Amino acid sequence: MSRLARRRVLVPAAAPGDRVRLDAAQVHHLLHVLRAVPGEVVTAMDAAGRSFRAVLEGSGEILIEALVSEPMPQGPVLLVAPPKGARMAWLVEKAVELGAGEIRPVVTSRGAVKPGGEAQVARWQRVAEAAVKQSGAAPPGIRPMAPLPEALQGLAGPLWIAHPAPEALPLRCALEAPSGVPAFAVGPEGGWTGAELKLLTDAGGRCVTLGPRILRIETAALACLLAWEPVRPRPILPA
Ligand code: SAM
Repeated sequence: MSRLARRRVLVPAAAPGDRVRLDAAQVHHLLHVLRAVPGEVVTAMDAAGRSFRAVLEGSGEILIEALVSEPMPQGPVLLVAPPKGARMAWLVEKAVELGAGEIRPVVTSRGAVKPGGEAQVARWQRVAEAAVKQSGAAPPGIRPMAPLPEALQGLAGPLWIAHPAPEALPLRCALEAPSGVPAFAVGPEGGWTGAELKLLTDAGGRCVTLGPRILRIETAALACLLAWEPVRPRPILPA
């Protein structure tokens, strides 16, 4: 088996034999923060989440030598009303570590965070990239904040609505029957409104409970991702 080198870099697309120029921020981080040296082997991860053995060159380029690992299977979609301030960055970091395939921040009536344009999504994407490098997770898509009807478009698997209602199905029971990669919807601190619950259920969603306690948005989001995460080791290719 090939071992994955601990130091990871992100590249848009790659194939063995490619020489890829790293962006200035990654070169700086590798050479001046991690003190990597030219000739060192690093792991390059492409946008599809595949990992390659690569050699760092003095010019700030890497030479891709071989594919060593296929991406892990696609993770769940997380629709979430972002919590305030640094808590959303924390949520993004942890959601990436726990294998979220895509994060779709949603605008809700009771949500505390308003859409903040390109700068807002770029900030979350930077956090996600750092988490990908640290954890080896496949890079998730992170969308700009959007109204619920837009965020609900194009979901392929079952939709589970986190909602602390007495009639909601326990999440563990909901996930017992395998039925494709799910999407989870987590509401704002004030909870979903009736109109939002209707939109979600009209889109095929069913309410699930995460237990008898009221969880913060980020706790609820991570509980959903963790409940789904099956034991699935990353496929490592033979050397
Ligand atoms: N008072 C709000 C309510 O009753 O919905 C509490 C909102 S909670 C702080 C924020 C979000 O986390 C909720 O909208 C829901 O999506 C999720 N959540 C928190 N605790 C939950 C639980 N025990 N079961 C299911 N979802 C939960």
